Amino acid sequence: MTPPSSDPRQAYVSVQGTPYGQFQLPASGLTEDQYAAAEDLFRSWLEQQCKASVGFQVSGDLDYQERLGPYLGLTLNNVGDPYQTGAYTHNSKILERAVLDYFASLWNAKWPHRRDDPDSYWGYSLTMGASEGNLYGLWNAREYLSGHLMLHSGQDPRPSGGGRYAPAGGPAGPGSNSFHPVIFYSQDTHYSLTKATRILGIDTFQDVGRRWFPDENPLDPGTPWPAEVPSVGGADGDGTIDVDRLAVLVEFFASRGFPVLVNLNYGSTFKGSYDDVEAASRTVHEICAKHGLDERPVYFDHHAREDQVQPGNFDLRTGYWVHVDGALGAGYVPYLEMARRAGLVAAAPPVFDFRLSTVHSITASGHKWMGAPWPCGVFMTRTGLQMVPPRESEYIGSADTTLAGSRNGFSPLLMWDYLARHSYDEQARWAAECDRMAAYAESCLRALEKELGLDLWVARSPFSLTVRFRRPAAWLVQKYSLSYETIHVRGRRRTYAHLFTMRHVTPDVVDGLVRDLRRPGAFPVGDPVEQEQVG
Ligand SMILES: *Cc1c(COP(=O)(O)O)cnc(C)c1O
Repeated sequence: MTPPSSDPRQAYVSVQGTPYGQFQLPASGLTEDQYAAAEDLFRSWLEQQCKASVGFQVSGDLDYQERLGPYLGLTLNNVGDPYQTGAYTHNSKILERAVLDYFASLWNAKWPHRRDDPDSYWGYSLTMGASEGNLYGLWNAREYLSGHLMLHSGQDPRPSGGGRYAPAGGPAGPGSNSFHPVIFYSQDTHYSLTKATRILGIDTFQDVGRRWFPDENPLDPGTPWPAEVPSVGGADGDGTIDVDRLAVLVEFFASRGFPVLVNLNYGSTFKGSYDDVEAASRTVHEICAKHGLDERPVYFDHHAREDQVQPGNFDLRTGYWVHVDGALGAGYVPYLEMARRAGLVAAAPPVFDFRLSTVHSITASGHKWMGAPWPCGVFMTRTGLQMVPPRESEYIGSADTTLAGSRNGFSPLLMWDYLARHSYDEQARWAAECDRMAAYAESCLRALEKELGLDLWVARSPFSLTVRFRRPAAWLVQKYSLSYETIHVRGRRRTYAHLFTMRHVTPDVVDGLVRDLRRPGAFPVGDPVEQEQVG
């Protein structure tokens, strides 16, 4: 055991006046009194913070405690494929399948999952949130576009212990790039996409552009390659991907033989904007088709000439993959669409789901729209697009088709509980109410703007559950857990905050926030929220 090298009570900041020392764990543990005092302090602080939290797209309307409390005394672990029970029998896979079927139906996929039906969906319940769904989606896409073995190809999945891996090509000739995927995502994309791209070693269009085509940025000849696909209107726009510019970039790489991996956002993190998945994915498909990247044969032995491979030794697959990051939107918009059909709201965002044959995978967080005490979510693709996992997993008795080893088995139970208790009708009503609440919050902030005579930069992207505005003083950011982001607008830096009107955000919560924003000093004069850009 090591003694501390300095006093930890000094090393960690206290949380709103709660001293860290009370939570420190001595070797003997805490006495009952110490425990009670510390736990009470922590809980009341947390309850207060949850109640006032408006800055994240996470529902705070939870009521699992009473029914699911007893499960804290049981071990649940869904290790391995959801559709194979496996050796670890105390799992919740039976509920997980029900939850996945529910989402498959909601997202217009073919269900139930059947291993022998490539058109049926396959998916799993995530141990993390949509970040894991993005990571897994990008892994699946990279393997698929790199020409690795598919689970469904009917071949012995591992001919000589590992299958054939296509070499990443260089820009020598049209054919040599065919298994070198290039990823495209917009400037409004969640940081988990960048992280997944780096973890997986996938090249972005900027990586390949800088390396092999340094002076050929087709968006703006003579300027450096941007890192991300521009959004409509740039940093100050609504936050949707600019489909025309995406098309220019995809054309550049598809015409040089590179397979194309596109992420689209359905409910972007900061502006809550919905990419036009239908238009964007159709555009990608059409460009790829022009360059033979729509449907292409991938031979299991890439080194064999076409006339040498055994018949059946290839599969047909697209030379592009469209992943939809629907962290909030894929969980919420289906109900908004129902609300529209029921006449509760006037309009809803465009379609994003498996009705589009051009969409390959979708992920959603469970804790965002549904609400859960911890991160969870769902990943979904088609069975025919599944790739062979890196190795066999006899030990767990089910295929190692998911990202995690041990996999959270409590989350499917939570999601099942929620979905079992809340009908389509109820959720469509909630969706309409949240939408109305966002409009209400926007109108309150606009009124405040007039009253204060200060430009608060109030904005709400179409159908979004978030309203963004000038970042207020630090104590307000703390009190309401307001997340914020600095955006460069016409050469100036602006720091925005935003609020989300999730189910727990009632008119009272909005009114309370606006009251606080009206206080003197809420928007400090000379606060560096807007500055000339340096450098
Ligand atoms: C929240 C969010 C994520 C990450 O989801 P987690 O569940 O927090 O991992 C990814 N993409 C978007 C658009 C998000 O809003």
